[in-house]
Amino acid sequence: MTERRTYDLIIRNARVVRPGMDTVDLLDIGIKDGKIAVLAPELPIAEAGQVVDAENKLAFPGLVDAHMHTGIYNPLDQDARTESRAAAMGGVTSSLNYMRTGQYYLNKGGAYRDFFPEVLALSHGNFYVDYGYHLAPMMKEHIAEIPDLVANYGVTSFKIFMFYGSHGLHGLSSDQSDFLMTPPGEKYDIAHFEFVMRGIKKAMEENPDKKDIISCSLHCETAEIMSAYTKIVEEEGVHTGLRAYHESRPPHSEGLAIAIASYLAHETDCVNINLLHLSSRKALDSAARMSLAFPHINFRTEVTIGHLLLDVDSPCGCHAKVNPPIRPREDVEALWQAVLDRKVDWIVSDHACCKEEMKTDNQQPDQIFLAKSGFGGTEYLLSGLISEGGKRGMSYNHMAELVCRNPAVRYGLSKKGDIAPGFDADIVLVDPTEGFVVSAKNSPSTQGYTPFEGQALTATVKQTYLRGRLIYDNGNIVGSPNGQYLKRPI
Ligand SMILES: [Zn+2]
Repeated sequence: MTERRTYDLIIRNARVVRPGMDTVDLLDIGIKDGKIAVLAPELPIAEAGQVVDAENKLAFPGLVDAHMHTGIYNPLDQDARTESRAAAMGGVTSSLNYMRTGQYYLNKGGAYRDFFPEVLALSHGNFYVDYGYHLAPMMKEHIAEIPDLVANYGVTSFKIFMFYGSHGLHGLSSDQSDFLMTPPGEKYDIAHFEFVMRGIKKAMEENPDKKDIISCSLHCETAEIMSAYTKIVEEEGVHTGLRAYHESRPPHSEGLAIAIASYLAHETDCVNINLLHLSSRKALDSAARMSLAFPHINFRTEVTIGHLLLDVDSPCGCHAKVNPPIRPREDVEALWQAVLDRKVDWIVSDHACCKEEMKTDNQQPDQIFLAKSGFGGTEYLLSGLISEGGKRGMSYNHMAELVCRNPAVRYGLSKKGDIAPGFDADIVLVDPTEGFVVSAKNSPSTQGYTPFEGQALTATVKQTYLRGRLIYDNGNIVGSPNGQYLKRPI
């Protein structure tokens, strides 16, 4: 006879960090059937199948890393296996990934009704954490598919890469249609973005019950500005490395793109707009101006942990090439000030595992314009935020809003992002007194290097639980990949 215990697991003596609160309380967490059943001091441990003593460690809600690129530079099934282990190490339990047709990823074009089932098949059984997808409508046919993607596939967030139409992912480009694999005669331009927004607006109208979680995300940089400045920087040859890349994609290129995106949102009444990975003071300033100009648009602003922890003088050099670029220290401090002033809604990793042999040119490894864009970092998202945010006086509760609750709410993960009865038992135990020095060799990611190498972080993720199951324990991944597809709304 199987005994029915009240709890499958009690995590005792945890300092529970909840978003939206102003205290961190020492509590026991009772878990049943993968959900949080109760939070209270001194739960009856005899009624639990298993008891774990958190020994006063912090318990954060499992992180929602809302911006990852699993499968961009490595086969999706393999990348899911390795990079979701890095996520688990970072305390991430929900991985939301940007996916599109075209080069990289599955390296093919076509309709999402053919493409996306393949994405799901390659993902199935390979993620150690729960996972979902944002999709980018790259061509006309994809726009018509938006309502179906919302209604049948649980994809409620869509992306626009504003510069892809005439500037390459890694630098100058004369023709992007090969890269994007779009049909002859179609342009990936501002008019296309307008019609993407109209498609999203239509999906909101057709799905009134889901309208709050249907949104449009934008990578805001302006191709024309970047192409012109890249030529100037290369011709002048004054700057190299990260500073040259920053000069070649100047902050006003972000500011202008944000203004264009915002006006299009206003014109199309596409009211839920996510401004992704803002990297500069000018980008923040533009976003602030646009939210004053268009108060009926629900803007959300995102910042990455890379832009918060690195600057153009960081020793990592080309390893930190990313779009938008890593900026000078003044911009980094402007980002932190915006975080502290609650002008940033969430913080993500923008994890894109780009191995050394692919990342830099093997003849000229220091030539930033020959390097590829993107790097991993999901494994340092929480420890990095606690380390640098803590120095600046941020509360743990505020941190939990930024990496747990806010992205969960926006993207329709109503059972993620908090430690409260009825929520998934996604819990991260963190020791805020145990520091470590970042070293790529300790990460399960296959990237092999990290631009954060050598940074001294002050907090360590000790254990990660996904729906009540231990998936990461003190340096080791536990069990097999049991992540579930997050068909939204959850
Ligand atoms: Zn990205």
